[in-house]
Amino acid sequence: MGEATPPAWLEWVKAPLLLLSANSMDRQESKTGASEPVVLSANMAARQLFEIKDDFFPQPLSLLFTERTCRQLAPLLIPHGSGAHQAFPFEITSAYTPEGKPPIQILVQGTPVDMGSADWLLTISRTWQTSTSLNNAMISQQNIIEALNFMPVAVEIYDRDLKEIFSNDHSDRMFGYGPGEVSGLDDWWELGYPDPEYRQLARKAWYDAMDTSRATNHEILMKDWVVACKDGTSKIIQFRYRSIGDLHVFVFWDISEQRRLEENLRQLANTDTLTGLFNRRSFFERLALSLENAKTSGIPVSLMMLDLDHFKSVNDIHGHSAGDATLREVARRCQKLLRDGDSMGRIGGEEFAILLPSSDHKTAAGVAERLRLSVSSLPIVLEGANLNTSVSIGLSTSLPGETDMFGFVKRADQALYAAKAAGRDCVRPELA
Ligand code: GH3
Ligand code: MG
Ligand code: MG
Repeated sequence: MGEATPPAWLEWVKAPLLLLSANSMDRQESKTGASEPVVLSANMAARQLFEIKDDFFPQPLSLLFTERTCRQLAPLLIPHGSGAHQAFPFEITSAYTPEGKPPIQILVQGTPVDMGSADWLLTISRTWQTSTSLNNAMISQQNIIEALNFMPVAVEIYDRDLKEIFSNDHSDRMFGYGPGEVSGLDDWWELGYPDPEYRQLARKAWYDAMDTSRATNHEILMKDWVVACKDGTSKIIQFRYRSIGDLHVFVFWDISEQRRLEENLRQLANTDTLTGLFNRRSFFERLALSLENAKTSGIPVSLMMLDLDHFKSVNDIHGHSAGDATLREVARRCQKLLRDGDSMGRIGGEEFAILLPSSDHKTAAGVAERLRLSVSSLPIVLEGANLNTSVSIGLSTSLPGETDMFGFVKRADQALYAAKAAGRDCVRPELA
């Protein structure tokens, strides 16, 4: 093999450079036994890139490059010189994986040279091409389908006539239908949206969203659609849509569990754990909303403040857990008499509030009286004791256009004090 002392200037070039001999005299056997070009030397940048020492050389090509890159390079690195063959400059893109690091994409440019025994100079630079342009052969259709099937979301692709041409494994699993069980989109509307009214709504929303998406060339996100599954359950799904060329591409994912957890959290945040009634915060939120509606509609709302009478002695005589049971029973009795749309909250230890939307003072006074009676007319049965208890109730009704919730509450509170002062176990209206 000839001397391979590279010219000094090679060291000063910042790009990684390799000097090779493709000459048949110099070729070495690779791991596979094939004869292959030999890397004679590398400049500093190349030694750094490949993490090799300068006494490493000469080495066959395959010690630096992957098998695939070697296969790409082999037909290009033809021996030349002495007019034997004509060699042409070339460039290929490939990937190089430094030891223990993620792969980098590289561009390898080959230039035929005549430098002692070296007949090829390879220049290596990093490229940032996308993997698609890197090598289409790597991304076979089969690989793409497997990658789509591996995704934890449903992917469905339809042709321009909205005939399904692909759905991934997750899509089949998501709604429980096997391949071929849903023949087309029309079939799907019937199965996924059995309620005709909801189906119509969903269908319109879908097609409108698809039209907008195509017109603006933007993807569309559709939220919270309730879709029926094969086993009779339903799922809350979201999806993204965009058209790609002539294709309609949908990505769906199931947010049922997320919504269920959110609902649980909302319940927890709004509920009094002892009685299951609204807690103070959520009760007053409802009250504020209700007052707003009353202002718009002109229909008054009424508010009751309830406080158990001499409740301290229930705890003192029967114990705290008997007190708790009493609070639960009073809540239960009141709720039984309320109608849909009425709201009851526990706003303090033994204080409750009840909101009657669309109720004038007279109606509300009637309800309050029935509530009072339901508490005091029958003893509360506790373990080992029958307990007579009663409740005092103050009542206020919203004034036309009233928006001051605190004033409204204060009037009911004052009425409650009046009920206490009047001897308890009674209903008192707000003071005129
Ligand atoms: P009044 O007729 O004037 O309302 O008398 P009262 O005894 O009901 O009023 P007071 O405000 O003096 O006492 C309220 C009692 O309610 C005091 C407290 O021990 C009790 N209490 C508050 N929250 C709870 C609770 O969650 N569980 C139980 N068991 N008792 C509670
Ligand atoms: Mg009290
Ligand atoms: Mg009390």
